[in-house]
Parts: sequence; C-alpha cells; structure tokens
Amino acid sequence: MPDVDVPSDAAAQDLLRRYGSLRTAVAGTQRRPNKPLTLLWALGRTEAGAPRLISFADAEGPLTGLLQQFAPGQTDPYLAFWHLQSDRVWEVVAADGTLRYAAGRSRPTKGSMRVSAAGGLPTDDHLLLRATPELLAEAAQVVLSEFFPETLHQPIADAVGVSIDAAPIIRRRRRSSTFRRSVLVAYQARCAVCDWAVRVGNAPLGIEAAHVLRHASGGSDEVDNGLALCAIHHLAWDTGALSADDERRIMVSPHVAEPSATDARLRPLRGQRLQDPQPDFPPPRESYLAWHRREVFRAA
Ligand SMILES: [Zn+2]
Repeated sequence: MPDVDVPSDAAAQDLLRRYGSLRTAVAGTQRRPNKPLTLLWALGRTEAGAPRLISFADAEGPLTGLLQQFAPGQTDPYLAFWHLQSDRVWEVVAADGTLRYAAGRSRPTKGSMRVSAAGGLPTDDHLLLRATPELLAEAAQVVLSEFFPETLHQPIADAVGVSIDAAPIIRRRRRSSTFRRSVLVAYQARCAVCDWAVRVGNAPLGIEAAHVLRHASGGSDEVDNGLALCAIHHLAWDTGALSADDERRIMVSPHVAEPSATDARLRPLRGQRLQDPQPDFPPPRESYLAWHRREVFRAA
C-alpha cells in the first residue's frame, strides 16, 4: 500500500506541466508576464508559510509593486488574479463562502473583487508544495524559464521570496547558441552600449546576446531582434533600467539611482546612440524597440 504522505511523482509532474503551460494574455503575438508573476508571488508566500488564501484587497498592493518592477507595461493585477483559475493553478473564493467566484463563472468587477474575493493556490497544490520544497523550487524555475529571460530569474526569485537554488538547472534551448553567434558576429562581440570588447585569448569576456522583444514574449532569434551587450548592460536592459528610442538613442530609467555624480555609470549614457551592427546586418527593428519601451522599460 502506498504511503499517502509521500507525494506521488505523477502529482508533481502534473503540477509542473500546468505551471509550464500557463496561457498568457497576448497582445499581437506577445505574451504578457502578469500570470507568471502572480503565480511566482504565490509560491513565495507558500515558501514563507503564509496562509493559502489572500484577499484581493491585500494582494493588490504587493502585486502592483511586483508588476511595476518586472512588467512595467502591465501593472494592474486584477485580470491575472482572476484568469489564473483557467490554468488550474489557482482558485478564487468568495468571502461569503458561495461559489460565485468559481472557475467558469463570469468575471466580477474589480470593485467587488476588492470587497469580497480571496485567491490562492488550490488546496492540493498548496499542500504538495508546502511538503516538498524541492518541487516548489522546481516549479518556480519552470515558470521563470518559460516566461522570463535568464538575467531576471534571480532578481524575480529574490523579489517574491522563492529559493531556486535547489531546483535543477533547466536546460537552455539550442536556439540560444545560433542567436548568440549571429548577434556577436553582427556586433563584433562589442557591447552596443559601452563598447566593452575584452577578450581572453579568442573568447569574448562577458559579452552576451540580448533579445529586444523577449523570446518568452514571442520575440524572434533574428539579428534584428538582438543586441550584443556586456553582462551589466544586458541586466540593465532586461530589468528596464535601459531602453532605446526609435533613433536608437539610449534611454535611462528615472528609477535608476546612483550614489553620486562621480559614481554614475548609467545616467551619463542617456542620449548616446547604441553602436550599430556591421554594415551587412540590420539594427534592431523599431517595432521591437517600441515593445521594449512599452513592456520592459521602467518609465516614470
Ligand atoms: Zn556594456
């Protein structure tokens, strides 16, 4: 007879499958990160031992802050808080104990959600994740890998309070190596922001290929969707500290804080032009840059 206290592998696999296939809202072909961020936030609460359910009124503030940080184009938590139910990873309950907020019912207004709705992981998932920290870490890693660039995995995990160290490294897809190679050739392995071009022997040191329109949001692996950036400027690009206008002039987020003028590294870049790729290669497409300004850049 199986020990009922040990979660079955099938249950864990089912959970990971559901977490890896959230149906995210699309704008054109672009996927939005609200649902994944809401779910990661709930995982952080679970890891911290918080109650399974939280009222929408209490969740709204922290979720808005999280979205402002990692999905600046989409800072209202209301739709994801409701629609996560359809992915079978979430439930919304009514304060009066009725089923009027059950999955499949029509969506309440934000006002009534504030008054009388609470949400959280379904009981079975909650108990399974509470009992199995490695599964929680793996579930978080699955969501991060599926929906966010690698540069953001640790910053998001830190922000929601999830430990991902215990999770197995998710194998990066093969696509990244061709993308990386062609972008580095196009930019001669130089950072398009600061011109960093250090090599050790023949190998570029700390130069990475960044997507303009994120791969996880439907961005292509073509050179016109890439920039060669040093590791620091790649992180600044993916966190929305930097972006670029249609003329490819660098924009610096007003949220960037630097201790003093002599310490300033990012703000002095404002208005400088990104390095162009070599003549045979296309620069980033304007529509991709527009997406980055809208969805990633942390504007005022
Ligand atoms: Zn750089």
